[in-house]
Amino acid sequence: MDILKERILKDGKCLPGGILKVDSFVNHQMDPNLLKKEAIEFIRLFSDTKITKILTIEASGIAPSIIVGLLLDLPVVFAKKKTPSTMDNMYRTKIHSFTKQRDYNVVIAKEYLSPDDRVLFIDDFLAYGNAAKGIADICQQAGAELVGMGFIIEKAFQHGREVLENMGIRVESLAIVDSLDNCEIKLR
Ligand code: 5GP
Repeated sequence: MDILKERILKDGKCLPGGILKVDSFVNHQMDPNLLKKEAIEFIRLFSDTKITKILTIEASGIAPSIIVGLLLDLPVVFAKKKTPSTMDNMYRTKIHSFTKQRDYNVVIAKEYLSPDDRVLFIDDFLAYGNAAKGIADICQQAGAELVGMGFIIEKAFQHGREVLENMGIRVESLAIVDSLDNCEIKLR
């Protein structure tokens, strides 16, 4: 997606440890107009697939997911990083965060995911694929069909795509970063 690639090159900042900072249009300040274009592209890429529900993880996956859900008129469910005291029947999985260097649990209430669901997972970044693997685990626990995963930015050098494709999961990304070596952003 050219407009996204241009924005990454213009506003993206490279941090040590292979992290791309895109706080000015993805992770802190958001650009609704760009988010809309991204959502339209996700919908085009998955137009051959029947979807009944959009799944994401809080926080940064919520904004793009909401727009996809709005345009497709589908519900959006986000995996929560804290278990609410009011939630008693849930799917839970453990995810390793490479940006924060720690494990955390995410939960989804059982009433919002069922074997009838055909799920599209949307997130901001694909790095090592750990968050995505957690979502695949929750879909499996629920008996829901995971029809694909869409990422705004994929960091190909961290090989999450291979992990997910080896699990039989369809992966689509809107921009692929091939390298952040020497703090230079190289896009495919
Ligand atoms: P993974 O689980 O694929 O290793 O990492 C995906 C999650 O980590 C994303 O949901 C995102 O929140 C965070 N993440 C991974 N790499 C980056 C990065 O380079 N920049 C930012 N802003 N977030 C990242």
